[in-house]
Amino acid sequence: MVKRVYNFSPGPAMLPLPALEEAQRDLLALPGLGMSILEISHRSPTFNAIIEAAEANLRQLLKIPDDYAVLFMQGGARLQFGMIPMNFLRKTGRPASYIVTGSWSKLAASEAQTQGQVHIAWDGKATNYDRVPTNEQLNIDPNSVYVYICSNETIAGVQFPTEPETGGLPLVCDASSELLSRPVDLPRYGILYACAQKNLGPAGVTVVIIRKDFLDMCPDDLPSMLNYKRFAEEKSLLNTPPVFAVYMVKLVTDWLIREFGNLEKVKQFNEEKAQLIYDVIDRCQGFYTVHAAPGSRSAMNIAFRLPNGDLEKEFLKQAESRGLCNLQGHRSVGGCRASIYNAMPREGVVALRDFMLEFYEANRNKVG
Ligand SMILES: *Cc1c(COP(=O)(O)O)cnc(C)c1O
Repeated sequence: MVKRVYNFSPGPAMLPLPALEEAQRDLLALPGLGMSILEISHRSPTFNAIIEAAEANLRQLLKIPDDYAVLFMQGGARLQFGMIPMNFLRKTGRPASYIVTGSWSKLAASEAQTQGQVHIAWDGKATNYDRVPTNEQLNIDPNSVYVYICSNETIAGVQFPTEPETGGLPLVCDASSELLSRPVDLPRYGILYACAQKNLGPAGVTVVIIRKDFLDMCPDDLPSMLNYKRFAEEKSLLNTPPVFAVYMVKLVTDWLIREFGNLEKVKQFNEEKAQLIYDVIDRCQGFYTVHAAPGSRSAMNIAFRLPNGDLEKEFLKQAESRGLCNLQGHRSVGGCRASIYNAMPREGVVALRDFMLEFYEANRNKVG
């Protein structure tokens, strides 16, 4: 058995070992088929069963109502930034309200501006994107087609504890770094999407859950690959889908169902893990500081700093040598970040917690 480290990367991120082992075991030939998943037709009955099982797993875990379609798309989360306003804003003459809580929602808003009218309902710049807004702070345009959020800002580790109040308007949500980490109240959403490489599988596929009345609004003058309605009509098989990535999403969701059964359990597991780290941070007398304000702290990505850059460098180096890898913060903000998605075992988080305590004890005297 090869040695695997604890990989705290924000994405592509750690995958559950049982899913990787299953893929490895069957890589040369799917059982009974004599061909690899990498070699089969996307129109074959075998792949059809795989994509249907992936969808059924997502429907079961997320309790997706029948009036929503599940699409497996390409182009990453970022294609959705443009494709959503291209389909739902461009021709309406109506605005969409964007809640800007960090880098990803900011980028989504600027992409939307190329397609239609964007109303910024709140922007967290004043406190350096360290929190989500209260409902009282929101200034939503009631004429909006939708209200856009990024439910978990991966870079700064800022997460909505619950959905914002929208006055009945549908939410459109980038849940790339948290989908399947906790239950979600889907009827409040028009569109909920996530690229796979954080919490669902490998890079290459984006899961888009979209209410069917949104599909009816898609204009006819778009190329079919950029039209959700066309995509849904062909059940995501308008062209060759990312076959292997979809297969891995199936294996990962099989694992979630086997291991946890439902997302309430997954949520509990993730919150307990995150609490181990937040507790140690709070116990170390300001040696570590969390970027996110209390109440907005993410259970998936914990962005934190040490007293100075030299200590951060030393911290990352020592962590690496213990098999605690990829803890450096995003290049835009620096510092450290621990991404602890579903596939990060509790033992990995405990190992990080213990190391953080030890590092604090060894270095607390070096800071005044
Ligand atoms: C990673 C990430 C993205 C970008 O995803 P791509 O698939 O690389 O386009 C967008 N939004 C969030 C919240 C992310 O975490």
